Amino acid sequence: MVVTPTVVLTIAGSDSAGGAGIQADLRTLAAHGMHGATVVTVVTAQSTSETRAAEFLSADLVGAQLDAVLSDLPVAAVKTGMLGTAEVVSLVGEHARAGLLPNLVVDPVLVDASGGALFDDPVPQRYVTELFPHASVVTPNLHEAALLVRAPVGTVGDMERAAAAIGAMGPAAVVVKGGRLGGQRSPDVVWSGGVVRRLPAIRVETCNDHGTGCSLASAVAANLARGMPRDGAIDAAKYFVSRAISSAAGWRMGSGHGPIDHMGWSG
Ligand code: PLP
Repeated sequence: MVVTPTVVLTIAGSDSAGGAGIQADLRTLAAHGMHGATVVTVVTAQSTSETRAAEFLSADLVGAQLDAVLSDLPVAAVKTGMLGTAEVVSLVGEHARAGLLPNLVVDPVLVDASGGALFDDPVPQRYVTELFPHASVVTPNLHEAALLVRAPVGTVGDMERAAAAIGAMGPAAVVVKGGRLGGQRSPDVVWSGGVVRRLPAIRVETCNDHGTGCSLASAVAANLARGMPRDGAIDAAKYFVSRAISSAAGWRMGSGHGPIDHMGWSG
């Protein structure tokens, strides 16, 4: 009997500490029973507490990885994480426009942990014009949503307005992640086909939250690859990440922000 596991492609950066980026994506996909193919865009030297160095790969090398994967493997969904350079955003956009990136989930990694912009224009602008119109789901956090709509996003009402404004930029759905909202709750806001709704969540006290954004986007891609409808794919991904955060809350891993428990090691 011939069996082909479901293949999901992640186009993202490497986190040497293994908490975020490609490493989080691969664990998320493995936890969903899927094969992850990887196009690496940037290699970062980071611990759980700081990023010490980063080197972006050339658009040629990113393109060569993309073509090697797409010409050979039956990719069912694609997730993008840190793309970095305007050339790479445009390259991925060209592949998306050509219909080569099915079930595209775009995590617009545009700000650092403290909310500072990682990339100047034209990078954010190219996300909006060249990637969002081809995306099934776009998953900004609060800071990224604020940068994209050029307005503060600090309340659930702001998140709803931002989700609708980003939805008007062309994707089929938007998830504005509320993980950095203060208070007891950290709801996400979903805009899907013109309808806005809240995904409730109780805040978990933990320092192990690195890679939550990467993991949510990869889980959405995995669920879309499985054939789930968009809203169900988003809800199931939120549940997966919430469980992984709770499960790792007691872990001691490094001196800073540790990883989440993708594999259910802590039950
Ligand atoms: N991609 C890489 C390579 C990173 O290093 C990071 C954060 O450090 C991210 C993506 C975004 O991580 P998060 O899922 O915590 O938002």
